[in-house]
Amino acid sequence: MLRLGIDLGGTKTEIIALNESGRELLRKRVTTTRGDYDATLRLIVSLVEETERELGDCGSLGIGTPGAISPATGLMRNCNSTWLNGRPLANDLMQRLDRNVHIENDANCFALSEATDGAGADHRVVFGVILGTGVGGGIAVEGKLLTGPNRIAGEWGHNPLPWPRDDERPGPACYCGKKGCVETFLSGPALTRDHARRNGIELSNEEIVTAAAQGEACSLASVERYEERLARALAHVINILDPHVIVLGGGMSNIPRWYDSVPQLWTQWVFSDRVDTALLRNRHGDSSGVRGAAWLGA
Ligand SMILES: [Zn+2]
Repeated sequence: MLRLGIDLGGTKTEIIALNESGRELLRKRVTTTRGDYDATLRLIVSLVEETERELGDCGSLGIGTPGAISPATGLMRNCNSTWLNGRPLANDLMQRLDRNVHIENDANCFALSEATDGAGADHRVVFGVILGTGVGGGIAVEGKLLTGPNRIAGEWGHNPLPWPRDDERPGPACYCGKKGCVETFLSGPALTRDHARRNGIELSNEEIVTAAAQGEACSLASVERYEERLARALAHVINILDPHVIVLGGGMSNIPRWYDSVPQLWTQWVFSDRVDTALLRNRHGDSSGVRGAAWLGA
């Protein structure tokens, strides 16, 4: 039996087929048909049918999207691919493909992928974090996603940054309507903005991190502000969830120093005499989303 996963993005849609042990058998990437719900359904159905024809077997199906299903209505919500919002995507696909269809947001797919056969494999409680254009999180317990009545477990990006300093209050405005969300301090664009605001000069994150490594004081200060905020935000999660490992994904997870500095810093805020939670870099990189989608059906 195949494990099929689809990553339904705003511009690209990707399908992957895994065997039972997680080996990749096929992967295909196509352009998303934007703004047209029926075309999106047709695209997904044809990707699944083509893949199964090519591999001569059928599979379970999971889909990762930027949004999620509302548990009350079964309709999609919170998608920045707005033509999906308010639509019964899972039901429509179940009818057309005659099987169960599991849909989860990107961060949950990431957490499941890393918990199944990634950096968090063999750890009981895994908190997966995406530090990218946005900030999201998902929780896997014993290899399964933790899903509550609101289906928002792990959605930590829109909590306020904890233990804020005076100059962090009320914090930058967030698209969700609040101010000072974790996302407004820890997304990729947040580091760029923070550095520009303090120094009046716009550098890319790569330039900031490189300059910091060379000891340039302003860039080093920006990187240190970021990692201290990351430590505070993760300490808050550790105090509630007490995960065995925290796995970072997204563009900001590629900066090696976090894995040394952040666990040293977070001890100040974790309510414990010692902290045995490990902070790990992801194993599957950009593939974690689509791989996690495939494991949803397992
Ligand atoms: Zn927010």
